[in-house]
Amino acid sequence: MINKNELNLLRDALETLEQGDTELPAFTPQHDARRLGEVIVKVAERMQDNYPYYHPQYAGQMLKPPHPVARIAYALSLWVNPNNHALDGGRASSAMEKECVVELGSMFGWQGHLGHLTSGGTMANLEALWVASRLHPDERVIGSEQAHYTHSRISDVLGITYTPIGVTRDGRMDVALVENELKKGDVGTVVVTMGNTGLGAVDPLADILALRESYDFRIHADAAYGGYFGLSSEIADDTAASYACLTEVDSIVIDPHKHGLQPYGCGCILFRDPAVGTIYMHESPYTYFSSAELHLGEISLECSRAGASAVALWATHQLIPPVRGGEFAAGLDAGLRAARGFHTRLLASRHFQPIFAPELDIVVYAALAADSQTCSERAASLFDIAAKKGLHLALIQLPADLIADALPGIEVNTDVVTCLRSVLMKPEHEEWMPRLVEILETCAEELG
Ligand SMILES: *Cc1c(COP(=O)(O)O)cnc(C)c1O
Repeated sequence: MINKNELNLLRDALETLEQGDTELPAFTPQHDARRLGEVIVKVAERMQDNYPYYHPQYAGQMLKPPHPVARIAYALSLWVNPNNHALDGGRASSAMEKECVVELGSMFGWQGHLGHLTSGGTMANLEALWVASRLHPDERVIGSEQAHYTHSRISDVLGITYTPIGVTRDGRMDVALVENELKKGDVGTVVVTMGNTGLGAVDPLADILALRESYDFRIHADAAYGGYFGLSSEIADDTAASYACLTEVDSIVIDPHKHGLQPYGCGCILFRDPAVGTIYMHESPYTYFSSAELHLGEISLECSRAGASAVALWATHQLIPPVRGGEFAAGLDAGLRAARGFHTRLLASRHFQPIFAPELDIVVYAALAADSQTCSERAASLFDIAAKKGLHLALIQLPADLIADALPGIEVNTDVVTCLRSVLMKPEHEEWMPRLVEILETCAEELG
């Protein structure tokens, strides 16, 4: 349930914030509290129509509640409403953003890098591919078939040719197919997904890096979802080896609003070589006169941007820094154990068959039936039945040939198979996992 005590912390913090404004004559903005209150109650009623994302029985899409410290800091900063485009719009929040960018980069062993927060992973990837296309003009971008769908669309926007590359049976980009493309001599950039959104598979970064001994190409790591898992002590050794290589890529996207406990509106792009900043050079007749210090808008494609996102992330880093062995990393570990436990239990079920062993915290599983068409129908029905019992899942469509091996004895009579998908990304999922499986089994019994 909602912890309304957080509001006391917000009220106290607003008092402190207000004490910064002592030089001006008193002025308190006025509003009609009665009418405002009526509308706000209406809003609260409208907002009741949502899935309960914060609850452990929400085990569907990649949705994680923000940490209270992020929520309170974000709300607090709305009374200032800073704009991190320029220092004129948000001095303190721009400084906080720069500190956060240093901290995020140091997760990957970087120092002296360039970067900034963005409204999300899509904007961050757009900037990465835009910079890549400036440095490798007229060359192709390649990435896994399981890479985020926006890469091909971003490439379209930028006028770049994007080629999807097949995956191996574990959902990772196929390195042999990557090399086939590199041999053609016109690939400028390889997008390596560190945790793809559908399956949670991590592309084999060490093997792709090794190809740079023979071919000249840029590597962009899309770690929007999976970027934080390098902090985990629970990931498998081969996965950890991929994360260890992140220090050598050219650019990284990580979404604090996915696994970093932030409200939406918080992605991040990092470039290892700060010299790419010159690519962003532009003249703004409106801004940049207040100081010679770096304004974030000088190294960003977006203009106005919520300073509140930086304030919230900064507060979160203060409380639970993104470092190995800390409380933040322990939360990721709990999700990984939840996913593994969920996978193990489904393996033993006569109603379900997991498609992959989870590499991160995503479990994809088929609802068993005689043929793939019926599997798909059962998955869709179970999604609805489970929701009525308060268990919220997600669905994913996968190419039948990708999962045929995982479903021996099932007749494949469709090109794609709809499976169930659960992102077990809340630490509480570890404790709740057995209960989630129990509800699932009950649903499957009911469906007959
Ligand atoms: C979510 C995601 C994106 C897109 O990020 P948004 O923040 O939703 O814009 C890109 N790549 C991967 C791997 C993702 O998981």
